[in-house]
Amino acid sequence: MPRPLVATIDISALRHNLAVARRQAGGAKVWAVVKADAYGHGLARGMRGFADADGLALIEPDYAVRLRELGWRKPVLLLEGFFDKADLLVAVQHEFQVVVHCEEQIALLETALPAGAQLDVHLKMNSGMNRLGFKPAIYHDAHARLRRIAGVRGIALITHLANADEADNPALPLARQLTNFAEGAQDLPGQRSVANSAADLLHPEAAADWVRAGIMLYGGTPCSRAAAEFDLLPAMTLRSEIIGVQNLDAGDAVGYGSRFVAPQPMRIGVVACGYADGYPRHAPTGTPVLVNGVRTSTLGRISMDMLMVDLSGIADAAVGSPVVLWGEGLPIDEVANAAGTIGYELMCALAARVHIEQIEQNNA
Ligand SMILES: *Cc1c(COP(=O)(O)O)cnc(C)c1O
Repeated sequence: MPRPLVATIDISALRHNLAVARRQAGGAKVWAVVKADAYGHGLARGMRGFADADGLALIEPDYAVRLRELGWRKPVLLLEGFFDKADLLVAVQHEFQVVVHCEEQIALLETALPAGAQLDVHLKMNSGMNRLGFKPAIYHDAHARLRRIAGVRGIALITHLANADEADNPALPLARQLTNFAEGAQDLPGQRSVANSAADLLHPEAAADWVRAGIMLYGGTPCSRAAAEFDLLPAMTLRSEIIGVQNLDAGDAVGYGSRFVAPQPMRIGVVACGYADGYPRHAPTGTPVLVNGVRTSTLGRISMDMLMVDLSGIADAAVGSPVVLWGEGLPIDEVANAAGTIGYELMCALAARVHIEQIEQNNA
């Protein structure tokens, strides 16, 4: 008998959320972002759920090859481009499109592209985030240099937004980043891609030619508003069961470090899920959880394989009662928020030992 901990991945939810992203984006095409093993949902499941996407975008060249092996024939975009010459040759061979974000990559294209190669590149601008890309002032020069390379076929224009979820951030307002991009790329031909999920949901006017949707496709939101407000469905539901019950007297302490002490007599449940499963160890007492469909909260420190929950007011809860850690009925963003992190991190951290069940409803 396996542990009762199961992550259910709903392919129809992925498909539904992609349709939401597309609707939001107006006429723009959609890159479905499947980096980090489709945000923890599994690359093949992502590919299945996003079969209608215009392309799949990711970071990892080896996973990109895997997409081709799984039969994905539509565009694949490497969001950080190639890391060395071997990657570049793999990209040519599999017809991956590549982001070019630094001088070193241009130099490699100039010297290492095989004769007859035809590569579509996406020239990345650093429009203010100061992570990857060419600053606006040197963007045209980088573009001209790329144009002189025989093996470079198309050149698309791409940038990444730091504050699409917080447009009035005084350090870098969204409007300034959009202006930086528009001015730095002025008069250049080529398809443009600016928007991540936050921009797609909150600033559809920034959609340009291609949006790059990630977190929203998995049913999380990049902002403080609830996923349901945007008609997004959770694609991952992490479920377990109560495997033990304790009756505490007032003053009894729970778990490592005795971080929770019962203020009065109470019943608590032990859930088969811990930080070795990807549940955040730093989730404090009070992090929400569902038992028998009733909302309650964690108590004390999260252990490696278990966590404890309050069963006060859930009189029928017993060993075997179903528990939802996040997903259907309990948005992952709420759990992440209580734990001081974001839904992205929880999804991506789902551990390999968690059994995965894939479901697909035809009507979604
Ligand atoms: C991850 C990523 C995205 C998707 O971001 P979300 O916030 O998950 O929508 C878009 N563009 C780039 C370059 C990325 O790395």
